[in-house]
Amino acid sequence: MSMASHALLLVAIILLSSPVVLATCACHDIAKLLPGRVFLPDSSEYKTSISSYFFLNSRQSPKCIVAPTIADEVAKIVKKLSVREKKQVAIRSGGHTPNPGFANTDSGITLDLRGLNKITLQGPSADVVSVGTGTLWRDIYATLDPVNRTVVGARVASVGVGGFLTGGGLSFFSPKYGFGCDNVVNMEVVLANGTIVSANATSHPDLFRALKGGQGNFGIVTRFDLITHSQSEYWGGAIQYAASADAAQLSAFESFKAASYDGSAEIEQTFVYFGALKTFSSTNNMFYMKPVANASALKMFADIQPQTTNTMRISNTSAFAEEIEMFQPKDQFATYATLSFRMGPGILPKIYKQWKDATTSLSAKVPNVTSVLTFQDIPPPPAANAPGNSFPFAPDSTPHKDDVLVLFSFYWPHKQEYELVESTIKGLTGSAQKLVGDRVKFKYLNYAAAWQDPIGSYGDEMNKMLVRVAKSYDPSGFFQKVVTGGFKLSM
Ligand SMILES: Cc1cc2nc3c(=O)[nH]c(=O)nc-3n(C[C@H](O)[C@H](O)[C@H](O)COP(=O)(O)OP(=O)(O)OC[C@H]3O[C@@H](n4cnc5c(N)ncnc54)[C@H](O)[C@@H]3O)c2cc1C
Repeated sequence: MSMASHALLLVAIILLSSPVVLATCACHDIAKLLPGRVFLPDSSEYKTSISSYFFLNSRQSPKCIVAPTIADEVAKIVKKLSVREKKQVAIRSGGHTPNPGFANTDSGITLDLRGLNKITLQGPSADVVSVGTGTLWRDIYATLDPVNRTVVGARVASVGVGGFLTGGGLSFFSPKYGFGCDNVVNMEVVLANGTIVSANATSHPDLFRALKGGQGNFGIVTRFDLITHSQSEYWGGAIQYAASADAAQLSAFESFKAASYDGSAEIEQTFVYFGALKTFSSTNNMFYMKPVANASALKMFADIQPQTTNTMRISNTSAFAEEIEMFQPKDQFATYATLSFRMGPGILPKIYKQWKDATTSLSAKVPNVTSVLTFQDIPPPPAANAPGNSFPFAPDSTPHKDDVLVLFSFYWPHKQEYELVESTIKGLTGSAQKLVGDRVKFKYLNYAAAWQDPIGSYGDEMNKMLVRVAKSYDPSGFFQKVVTGGFKLSM
């Protein structure tokens, strides 16, 4: 072989083993296997898929988007991709994660599962609903409200099913029924070798448990069968208060935690800085599962003044979830971080002060930032005789009574401000963690920053179990190595 052909061969080897070329080959292979399901960057389907990510920081540019519509197609795609070795495949359902590269990729293929969006009511009284992973909660509520049933789904209408349920799922109804994932009776799962299995209390129960909090480490869930609960219209909505109410707000949340637990009451208390208006304010999104206005469990919040808006009324889940949707800062850059702590006197005002100081200092450099501090409950754990999840709460523990979940979230318009905001949220989370200590280690996965370790926070025993499940269902490590993004296990 001449020097020139040696050089050509070398270039060809380098090119063929680069992620870009491998990804392009895979796009071509899948297009041959499933005509009409692969979309290249110049297609309108590709552009619509990218712009449907909730936040700008998840709008990477994969080499192609593969959009299956049934589990069989997902299985064929996974089989085709499982022989590859590099981090090349991203998996998305609703596309709401703010963590860049978790549900999309710049270097490979994105599997867009939004086409798996079938909703089927089961049984004579619709006590189970089957939903594809690409379904949006708004469509499920629209199906169930007219028959006076509901599911433990997201509080914002456009959130996706797949990420929400495999990460946990905090709902209007979580104080009574637990995390969304605790209300799943069966999952249809595509494994790394392309087989499709049912995971439930009796079939692959270890996989079933792992997928409730372990997210994308074990398989791709293509369908969830969810318990529906009887639910007619109930009291809920939002009250916004001027910043002068902040002290009363914090003290009301302390009273709420000290009062006897009422599983019908759900509240997210948020303190907000709007850079566009240069103002601080606070909002409570509050819900009581019965048609009881001013329910006593939430009255301490309803009584606080001065209020700037008040939408509390008796209505249904669709209306409440669409209302919260309207106030979400879509099409911005965003970052979340989380921690939990054992409630004690005086802690809330200290966290609030840390957040306010960090926000004030950041707003001098990032004038259009929106900064939010949220306090809410952790749901009660499943009963001892119910299928478990991956979270670190024993059946007889009472995190819903004792602990508080914190979410810090920041939203801003320009990419170049990313590092400033990231270092602020990291610093703030670190200071807050120092303040509250690590008695409650739980970090809620769906609120965790990419630099946090939510799965590690489930504890050693649970992590050993999750690694065992991953090795047994995915011995080649497809979900650890080929799938990019998401919180991986420490193998
Ligand atoms: C506006 C807004 C409102 C929110 N409201 C709530 C709320 O009320 N309660 C709450 O708990 N959380 C809430 N969240 C957080 C939300 O739960 C997470 O962002 C969740 O990941 C969203 O699900 P998704 O399907 O959109 O996930 P995606 O962004 O599509 O994916 C997130 C991760 O899950 C993996 N994944 C997705 N689908 C599957 C699947 N089928 N099988 C295996 N892995 C999968 C992806 O690979 C990715 O790593 C909210 C977020 C936003 C932006």
